[in-house]
Amino acid sequence: MRDFSYLDRNFREIRDRIGKAAGQSGTDPDGIRLVGVTKTVDVDTINYAVEHLGLTEIGENRVQSLLEKYDRIKDRERIKIHFIGSLQTNKVKYIIDKVDLIQSLDSLKLACEIDRQAEKHGRIMDVLIEVNSGREPNKGGIMPESVEEFTDEVLKFKNIRLCGLMTIGPVCEELSDLKKFFVETYRTFIDISTKKIHNIDRPIMSMGMSRGFEYAIESGSNMVRIGSALFRE
Ligand SMILES: *Cc1c(COP(=O)(O)O)cnc(C)c1O
Repeated sequence: MRDFSYLDRNFREIRDRIGKAAGQSGTDPDGIRLVGVTKTVDVDTINYAVEHLGLTEIGENRVQSLLEKYDRIKDRERIKIHFIGSLQTNKVKYIIDKVDLIQSLDSLKLACEIDRQAEKHGRIMDVLIEVNSGREPNKGGIMPESVEEFTDEVLKFKNIRLCGLMTIGPVCEELSDLKKFFVETYRTFIDISTKKIHNIDRPIMSMGMSRGFEYAIESGSNMVRIGSALFRE
């Protein structure tokens, strides 16, 4: 058995930091979902984190990599698998029956294909709309000012359930500069959850990665996606 003690330490530290950030903003730490981003790690590491560290949600950003790992992930029924990377329309069919949430919906074309494949598999696919909160020209995601209109379009699909928003945020020189993008996205999220997605129990605001997730939590995030800070040796 490999020595995974670094994982125990990392997980304890990150849960601690999530707890503190939640405490500081007066939210319940248990209401903040931790998605372990496993894109850089192998299946043994994933299985260890699930079996021994209570990790219940994992995120992968590439179809190929997810498919390679999928069959060897233990306890697949007990965990949720999130797709968090940019998703090509022609690859939706490979993951439609394998993931629990697609976090990166950013075009109508993609929504159409998700709807079509979901129907084919007799399921409803949960999705988040990805917001390009930094308005970066070369990045995926819906521009903040277009999210409301895009939401209305997404809500028309019968086999898609819109559960909330996701954002990455721009690369900032000062980490704290991220906060204004998070705050703006959270406002859009509140707007949409109160006006448009009443059917969802707990709408999801997915923001915050290894660098700067405390700012995301302080801004209202209820789902953080953390890779390197959890899995680095
Ligand atoms: C890689 C990735 C993460 C995690 O990034 P870290 O900096 O390693 O925590 C989160 N979200 C998305 C969409 C990613 O691609």
